[in-house]
Amino acid sequence: MTPDPPSHTALVRRARRINRELAVLYPDAHCELNFSTPLELLVATILSAQCTDKRVNMVTPVLFARFHTAADYAAADRADLEKIIQSTGFFRAKANSILGLGQALCDRFGGQVPGNLADLVTLPGVGRKTANVVLGNAFGVPGITVDTHFARLSKRFRWTRQADPDKIEAEVGALIPRSDWTILSHRLIWHGRRVCHARKPACGACALARLCPSFGEGPTDEATARKLVKAGPFS
Ligand code: SF4
Repeated sequence: MTPDPPSHTALVRRARRINRELAVLYPDAHCELNFSTPLELLVATILSAQCTDKRVNMVTPVLFARFHTAADYAAADRADLEKIIQSTGFFRAKANSILGLGQALCDRFGGQVPGNLADLVTLPGVGRKTANVVLGNAFGVPGITVDTHFARLSKRFRWTRQADPDKIEAEVGALIPRSDWTILSHRLIWHGRRVCHARKPACGACALARLCPSFGEGPTDEATARKLVKAGPFS
């Protein structure tokens, strides 16, 4: 017989315990993209699609030294821009987004990055995930960032069964206090990168083993699991 699913209260309690354990494990969890302004973070996040944060961080010093304002991006020479961002992949589409972003910010927002979700998602290349990264990390507005790691781990923790990022965001948001949404996103991403990998999670070396309903999805033998753990840093 399949056991009954946990009650909402039990689910909330376990989710918060996992969040607390992750806080102890990753006291330094933070956004691994380098930036100093909302505009820089917005551009870096657009570049991070299908690319590692490490690679983006190699490209952005050159980019940010060359382009400072939304107007600079709007007036950028496409060939120049594409050359600088080429190594992040999908550079033509990303150049389109960045040129359009600069133009849209100048046309509609006085050259400033808006600090709310409704406006952010109207910008070229900016979906809900990118908007939440910017809100959470550049504006201090709590936001859940559902990337591939967040989606995988929240499923393994049985916080959600949804595949759609917006639904995952809503269901996990109902379990964790709003004030923790941004930092929770970083913690899950950090654990996903280091321990709870997509193919072979390092269950036998995982500090969450006793709390995780998916313990056993990867090797449970400690020596084997330890070899799977990646140390980072990833930026
Ligand atoms: S016990 Fe396994 S599945 Fe659960 S969080 Fe740890 S590594 Fe991931």
